[in-house]
Amino acid sequence: MYYDLITFTVTVETSGNGAASASPASATMGRTVTLTATPAEGSHFVKWEVVSGNIVLNGNTFTMPARDVTVKAVFAEHTYSGWTQNDNDTHTRACTVCGAEQTEACIGGEATCTKEAVCQVCGQPYGEKDPDNHTGQEAWVTTAESHTKVYSCCKAVIQQSEAHTWNDEGRCSVCGYGCTHSGGTATCTQQAVCEICGALYGNPNPGNHTPSEVWTQENGKHYHVCLNGCETHLDEEACSGGTAACTAKAVCQVCGRSYGDLDPDNHINLTEVEAVAATQQAEGNTAYWYCEDCGRYFADADASEEISQEDTVIDKLPADTSENGSDGRPENGDDTTAGGTGTAGSSGSQQSGSGTSISGGTSGKDSPKTGDDTAAGFWMGAMTVSALLAACCLVLYRKKKA
Ligand SMILES: [Zn+2]
Ligand SMILES: [Zn+2]
Ligand SMILES: [Zn+2]
Ligand SMILES: [Zn+2]
Ligand SMILES: [Zn+2]
Ligand SMILES: [Zn+2]
Ligand SMILES: [Zn+2]
Ligand SMILES: [Zn+2]
Repeated sequence: MYYDLITFTVTVETSGNGAASASPASATMGRTVTLTATPAEGSHFVKWEVVSGNIVLNGNTFTMPARDVTVKAVFAEHTYSGWTQNDNDTHTRACTVCGAEQTEACIGGEATCTKEAVCQVCGQPYGEKDPDNHTGQEAWVTTAESHTKVYSCCKAVIQQSEAHTWNDEGRCSVCGYGCTHSGGTATCTQQAVCEICGALYGNPNPGNHTPSEVWTQENGKHYHVCLNGCETHLDEEACSGGTAACTAKAVCQVCGRSYGDLDPDNHINLTEVEAVAATQQAEGNTAYWYCEDCGRYFADADASEEISQEDTVIDKLPADTSENGSDGRPENGDDTTAGGTGTAGSSGSQQSGSGTSISGGTSGKDSPKTGDDTAAGFWMGAMTVSALLAACCLVLYRKKKA
């Protein structure tokens, strides 16, 4: 009963971060004392320890003994799990002992054009990309015909698309792009011209010639020159066709030029001269063939037997005085024109040949030579066919010449 009147003290100590108290802070024996512990931020309450006084705690209360009491509130800092990121760019962690949660805004790191910033606390990306913060270089995006300047990181356009500016080698002087070249046509001497950049490329095409329209002839062959300037003889063949003659070479049916050798045995313009009988006044001639081109004489129409001009001459007949000068011949007494009337019209068959002889005579320079070198000699021959007719013609002829 005595002790009931004595008041004893309750002393509260702490360990860690927090505050603690007892209520009442002093009491007589038998009173109930209530303890209160409040952890500081970042800590939690762990337990009460009885330092002295030999009491038994019942939760946070005890019954005051007849002596002083000392108790201690033990606090400990939270022990957190790892951070977890939330949807709203925050992260949260919880105490594995008391479950207290801590939530903060994500922080730090650097957003770029391609990536969000990475939170330096929770290690997760957060926030928005920064379209102006490029990590790459300025670079060209190219097509066959154009270039566009972009950032290599995000391909954001720096300079709009424009056509390449080609140099002679087919490379763009702005972006450095090398043309792959296409189109155009290579010839035997020239590379193809690229339809995109205009540069020459590839190899000449040795089979692509440009033949001239006209033929060139050389050594009995004709060919087309290549207008591209290569030395190839296009379509070259030996000249062919046509017929060589005594004074003219054959003419090629393809190129129209003469080629090859003369054919001395082929006489195209062979003129037949009929036989003319000799008279007392004039030499005659045998039938013969004369080539107007080469001037040669032949005994036959096939020109197989060549003769000389002299071979054609038939000597005058022996003189017959009884017939001489008996009729009204032209007053001209020239030897070369005197013709006996006895022979006039002596041969009907020769009459038919007179046309050929006379027409040949009047043609002048192309006439074949007969009896002698003078025109008169020819006329003498004609007179043997028809002395009267020839004489009349001779008069006319002489008058013309005079
Ligand atoms: Zn805790
Ligand atoms: Zn975070
Ligand atoms: Zn970028
Ligand atoms: Zn370019
Ligand atoms: Zn090109
Ligand atoms: Zn060519
Ligand atoms: Zn030819
Ligand atoms: Zn001839």
